[in-house]
Amino acid sequence: MTRDPRYDVLFEPVKIGPVTTKNRFYQVPHCNGMGRLHPDGMIAMRDVKAQGGWGIVSTEQCDFHPTGDVTPFSETRLWGDMDIPYLAGMCDAVHRQGSLAAIELVHNGQDSGNIYSREVPIGPAHRPVTWRNHPVQARAMSLQDIREFRRWHREGALRARDAGFDLVVVYAGHDGTMPAHFLARRHNDRTDEYGGSLENRLRLYRELLEDTLEAVGDTMGVIARFAVDEMIGDAGLEAGSEGRDAIEMLAELPDMWDVNVSDWSNDSMTSRFAQEGYQEDYISFVKQVTTKPVAAVGRYTSPDAMVSAIRRGIVDLIGAARPSIADPFLPRKIEEGRLEDIRECIGCNICAAWNNLSAPSRCTQNPTFSEEWRKNWHPEQIAHKGSDAHVLVVGAGPAGLEAAHALGKRGYTVTLAEARRELGGRVTRESALPNLNAWARVRDYRMGQIVNLANVSTYLESELSASDVLELAPDHVALATGSHWRRDGIGRSLRSALAGADRDTSFCPDDIMDGRRPPKGSVVIFDDDHYYMGSVMAELLAGEGYGVTLVTPGLCVAQWTEFTLEQGHIERRLVKLGVEILARHSVVSIDAGNITIQNLLTGDLSQRPGALVPVTMRLPNDSLYHALMADAQAVEATGIQSVKRIGDCFGPATIAAAVYEGHRYARELDAQNAFGNVPFKTVKYDLELGGGR
Ligand code: ADP
Ligand code: SF4
Repeated sequence: MTRDPRYDVLFEPVKIGPVTTKNRFYQVPHCNGMGRLHPDGMIAMRDVKAQGGWGIVSTEQCDFHPTGDVTPFSETRLWGDMDIPYLAGMCDAVHRQGSLAAIELVHNGQDSGNIYSREVPIGPAHRPVTWRNHPVQARAMSLQDIREFRRWHREGALRARDAGFDLVVVYAGHDGTMPAHFLARRHNDRTDEYGGSLENRLRLYRELLEDTLEAVGDTMGVIARFAVDEMIGDAGLEAGSEGRDAIEMLAELPDMWDVNVSDWSNDSMTSRFAQEGYQEDYISFVKQVTTKPVAAVGRYTSPDAMVSAIRRGIVDLIGAARPSIADPFLPRKIEEGRLEDIRECIGCNICAAWNNLSAPSRCTQNPTFSEEWRKNWHPEQIAHKGSDAHVLVVGAGPAGLEAAHALGKRGYTVTLAEARRELGGRVTRESALPNLNAWARVRDYRMGQIVNLANVSTYLESELSASDVLELAPDHVALATGSHWRRDGIGRSLRSALAGADRDTSFCPDDIMDGRRPPKGSVVIFDDDHYYMGSVMAELLAGEGYGVTLVTPGLCVAQWTEFTLEQGHIERRLVKLGVEILARHSVVSIDAGNITIQNLLTGDLSQRPGALVPVTMRLPNDSLYHALMADAQAVEATGIQSVKRIGDCFGPATIAAAVYEGHRYARELDAQNAFGNVPFKTVKYDLELGGGR
């Protein structure tokens, strides 16, 4: 296949100072939880991005001095020459594919807790460290400190050049970097030439750009990564005033602009809160005030939207973090005219969550993400089948669909049986809930692939019993039959069933998704799940006119969504919808249409009228498994070699986990695990031990 000429513009080279990118696809800096702690994994992941056609492949944040230590996050690091070799490894991998390697130098200023380096944090003014309310303060930098800071940054750029990078990103964004702190009036109360007027507050950033250009600008392109709007009104930078003024003042200084909004929760807004291209309103002015190339992100996955953003003069380069994670081969697929093969990011931020948990990141859509090195999984390559086996996959949710799809690509004969009229399982059901429609992409990508696999047969409205399975007599059975929500309140907090919770008084998320509703009036949502479902139920029911109280034992509504950067957005939305939020509360009982609620701090009881919507935990749909196990002899007699549960049927978890387990099942069928007890390759440490050992 060849590419549609409409997309030719995406494959034009762009000159960035002394270097030229082969196309307009810019994988912007993105965290991945590997960085310096898992350098082999990080390098292999960036290698795959370059293979996938990204013209520029950037590192994540790279801290360049111990006073800006990003611990506990596993980012890259360039404190000295000893840090050069692994970064050089990344550059080599990127260069082998003809792409440019970029590095994002970072100092988190007053946000740096310095928990590893133990250095006293520094910033424009005396301020407490904001990161996790860490109980230390940043001290105000003297003019001498500022000179030192500029030297560290310059040395970082020189080391980056020595490592082989082609581009260096000078980073003032996300309300989390030193130059951004200097720029913000609320963080900077200096009275010297670095405080007061915009020109003064911008001085450090200008100097960092000038220093970098002077040090490495003859061979490296210098990118200014800059947040033009902080989305907090006039308390911060706004695109209509100082954000624009700042860009105008530095317009021609850098070789390229990479502009966005801050903080990170706004820049990486989930699809629940923003659509593709959502940053355009803020950043569209930039190209009008500079002749230098401009890049921006906006969760672009559609080549038409990308071309449109270029044709309309909004950007010159398409920046992407999440779309490049969900599909590292996005550029190549557009280039080869294989649009139906694109695995579109669903905007769920599971990738960000894993980074925030300081673990190798994962992706809902791309189960191979962060497994490139340790499991040798490639997003576009999968081993040919190990036998002529016929595999029956029962259930076509994310686990079953992914298993069938990956098994199909391996060449196995696959039968996929689904009880319902439509494929997708929980993804189809949940994507019908408010603002979760992008999640259907998990189903759509896999359906689109399976359709072209003649060896995969799909049967809808086919609820299989144990005797059906025996009759089909496959060689292997994968049970991906999902899970269901409890209705009795048992979960993290309650260990025994709520008195009075039955089908008439208690409506779990499955009931709601099936269209069942309590009588009009009030509901109490008991969210002991702490992820998205409780707040989505609140959004749905408040939208339908119910009076909604959300009770959660957590410190705040949807507490786990702090990791997906959504918690603040969710809370604001629910407050706007008039939802009453009772954090640190629990539900005690339901009686005659009254729900008794307990304040977990004081023990005080109160009541709310209405029905209960418990969002607490799920149970596996594993009756088919147990029925087959109960007749092990018959299973053996039919020649079935294995019966395995995958996805929620084995352990209810995230959609990302279900996709991963489905993929893993397909990869590992007929394959030996070469790594012993550990499911993947680990690093052999080269220890420098004391004591003469
Ligand atoms: P997961 O997240 O693990 O993929 P889901 O709950 O999304 O799980 O999907 C499970 C799917 O399995 C649902 O679409 C459900 O209709 C289907 N299913 C459950 N039991 C059977 C069965 N016995 N035969 C066929 N399909 C089934
Ligand atoms: Fe997109 Fe979700 Fe994958 Fe992140 S985890 S890249 S948001 S699909």
